Amino acid sequence: MVEFLKRAARGFGAVGLMCLSGCAAVDTHQRVADWPELKVVEHHVSNREMRDHCAPFVGSLESPLGCTVFYFDALEAHIYVSREFPSDFVLEHERLHASGYDHIGSVALQTMLKDWRARSKVRLAATPAAAK
Ligand SMILES: [Zn+2]
Repeated sequence: MVEFLKRAARGFGAVGLMCLSGCAAVDTHQRVADWPELKVVEHHVSNREMRDHCAPFVGSLESPLGCTVFYFDALEAHIYVSREFPSDFVLEHERLHASGYDHIGSVALQTMLKDWRARSKVRLAATPAAAK
């Protein structure tokens, strides 16, 4: 039960995907099926601020170049890139993630979306109004 509550609470939070120094190429031919139309917000922030936003999605020894944070509940994707080290490559890369394209051979985006959809169903079922 505690695990369920933790998972439910996380449903309101964010999931992210980041671009690291050895960032994998995005598969531009295959978009995640049924990817929702997300409002994309780009944040060109200081390197430090970008790291603050992206660090939760990165291993402690890794250094992010940028990341896309998905708020599926709000249907928004927030891209964080450093304005001190601007890179068209990183920005384009994150834009592709925001529109539903994953790294070659990765199912991370598909899994995030599937998890969110599953949690949304649980929440709807748990809402008294939905039971009537
Ligand atoms: Zn990436």
